[in-house]
Amino acid sequence: MIMRFLSVLCLLCSASCFAAALDREAFTVAKYDLQIRLEPQQQRLGARGKITLRNDSGQPQKVVALQISSSLNWRAIRVDGKAVQFVSQPYTSDIDHTGAVSEAIVTLPVEIKPKDSVELEIGYEGVIPLDTTRLTRVGVPQEIAKHSSWDQISPSFTAVRGAGYVAWYPITTESADFSEGNSLFEVTDRWKKREQDASMKLSLNTDAGADDRTLLLLCNGNNSMDTREGNMHDRYVRCGYERLGLATPIFAMANYQDQSKPPLYLFSFPGHEAGAATYFNALEPAAKFVSEWFGQPSAPVTIADFADPNSAPFESGTLLMASMAAEDSKLAGINLVHELVHSALPSPRPWVYEGLAHFAEAMYRQQQGGRQAALDFLGLHRAAFLDSEKEVSAAPQKNAAEKSVGLALATTFDETYYRSKAAYVWWMLRDMVGDDALKQAIRNYRAANDDDKDPKYMEQLIEAAAKRDLGWFFDDWVYHDRGLPDFRVQSVHPWQTDKDVQIITVTLENLGSAGAEVPFTIICAGGEVTKRIEVRAKSTATTRVELPGTPSEIVINDGSVPEIDLTNTVFKISAP
Ligand SMILES: [Zn+2]
Repeated sequence: MIMRFLSVLCLLCSASCFAAALDREAFTVAKYDLQIRLEPQQQRLGARGKITLRNDSGQPQKVVALQISSSLNWRAIRVDGKAVQFVSQPYTSDIDHTGAVSEAIVTLPVEIKPKDSVELEIGYEGVIPLDTTRLTRVGVPQEIAKHSSWDQISPSFTAVRGAGYVAWYPITTESADFSEGNSLFEVTDRWKKREQDASMKLSLNTDAGADDRTLLLLCNGNNSMDTREGNMHDRYVRCGYERLGLATPIFAMANYQDQSKPPLYLFSFPGHEAGAATYFNALEPAAKFVSEWFGQPSAPVTIADFADPNSAPFESGTLLMASMAAEDSKLAGINLVHELVHSALPSPRPWVYEGLAHFAEAMYRQQQGGRQAALDFLGLHRAAFLDSEKEVSAAPQKNAAEKSVGLALATTFDETYYRSKAAYVWWMLRDMVGDDALKQAIRNYRAANDDDKDPKYMEQLIEAAAKRDLGWFFDDWVYHDRGLPDFRVQSVHPWQTDKDVQIITVTLENLGSAGAEVPFTIICAGGEVTKRIEVRAKSTATTRVELPGTPSEIVINDGSVPEIDLTNTVFKISAP
C-alpha cells in the first residue's frame, strides 16, 4: 500500500517537476523549410522538412515542445540524421481551431546554450477538416462559428491559415485560452512578435486533379505563383518569406475561375462572375487614388473567393480571401484600396503597414461619400479598442505604465491596435498637418535599405514635411498607450466688442491622459463656426472665436478623435 502510494507520489512528482522545467516558449523557430503534400479527397496533409530552433531563453535547454494541430500526428524527428527521442501528447490550447495541439516533447542530443540554434528534420501528417471546437465549446453556435472558423482541406474547397488558426506548421507556445479574457490573443500576439524575423520556405503540391485544368493551388508570401512555362494552373506552388513580419501563412486550393488581369490576380467560383466583375470595375479608380497618396502599387494583389459566401474575409500580406457571391461595388473598392496600399507601401512596422491601409479605406469613403461617411466608417473601428483603452485609463498608475509599453502602437502586435487605433492616429495626423504634408511624408518613407530603423523615423518625416513639433502627439499615441482623451467644455464666456461683434471665449478641458487636436463647432443664430484646438493630456486650452450671431451650443469632436466618453461632448450655452 505504502509502496503504491509512494510510486504514485513519485509519478506525480516527476510529472510536475518535468512540467515546471519545461519552458514552452524558450525556443523560437528561426527558419522553416517545408514540403507539404495535400490530398484533398482524404482531407490530408503530409509534411516533411527542416526547422531551425533558436534558444531565446536565458538558460541552456535540452527539451523542446513542438506543437502542431491535434488532427495531425508526429511521424519523425531527427537531429544530425539521427532519430531523437520524443513523447507525443495532446495539449489543450485554443491557438488551434481544434482547441488542442499534438505536442512532441523532444529531448535533444545536447543542451542548447542561450542564443544557439539547432536544426531538426521533421515529418508529420494527418487531416485538416473544418473544425469549430474552440468556438463552440465557449458557446458560439455551430452555424455562426463555421463562418469564421472556415479553415479546411476538402475536395471542393481548401483554405488553411497558419498560427492562431491552424497549426499546420510547428509552433512553440504556452496554452492559449479563449474563455480567459484576452489570453488567446496575448499568446498569439506574443508568438507573432517572437516570429517576426523568422524566414519560411514552403513548397506545396497536391495529388488532386492531374487532368483537371481548373484546379488552382495558391499561397501568400513572395513568389507565391509558380509560373513554370507561364502556366499558373499547376498542382505545385512555392512560397517564401524572407521575414514573416505580420504575415499569417495561408494556402488555398479550389476549382477557381482564373479572372486575373495582372497586377490584379482574381480567382472566383463559377456563378460569381458578376461579383468578380465589380472588382475589375473598381480597380482603376482605386489604383489612381492609392498611387496619389502612397505611390505606385508594385507587388501583385491576389483576391480569392470563398465557397461559402458567409465566410468572414481574411487578409494577410497582399492576399485577400473574400466572397464574390454578392455584387458590392463599395466593398470591392475599399478592399482593393486596402490591398493596393500594401502593394505600394511595404513596412516592417504593423501600425504603418496595416494602419495606413485602414486609414486609406476611410479616406476612400470620404472621397465617395463625404467626411461624415468616413467618420462613420472609422467609428466602426473605435469599438475594437475602446474596452482595452478603458482598462488603461482606469488602471492604477503603475499597471498603466506597464501596460502602456505593452500596447504602444509603435511596437504592438495587437491587431485591434495596429489596425483600428492606428487608422485613427493616421486620420488625426492628416487633420493636423493637412493632405500635402502627410502625402509628402509618406512619399519620403522608405521601408527598405534599413531606413526605418529608428522608431521615431515616421515622426521625423511628418514633422519635416509639416514643419510642426509632433513629439507630444507621438508620445501619447504611438510610443505609449496612454488611453484616450476625454474632452468637455470647462467654461464659456460670450461677449460683444465695442463694434457689436459677437465673440465667445471657450475653455476646453481634456480629462484623459492622451492629448489631441480636436475640432469643435459653435452653433449660433446665424449659422455655425468650426475651429480646431490642441488640448494636451490632463490640461485645458482656451481660445476666442468670432461668431455670426448669438451662440446656443458647442459640440466638441466630430468623431475624428477617439474619445473614452462621448456623453459630455455637447454643451448648451444658457442665454445671458
Ligand atoms: Zn492589411
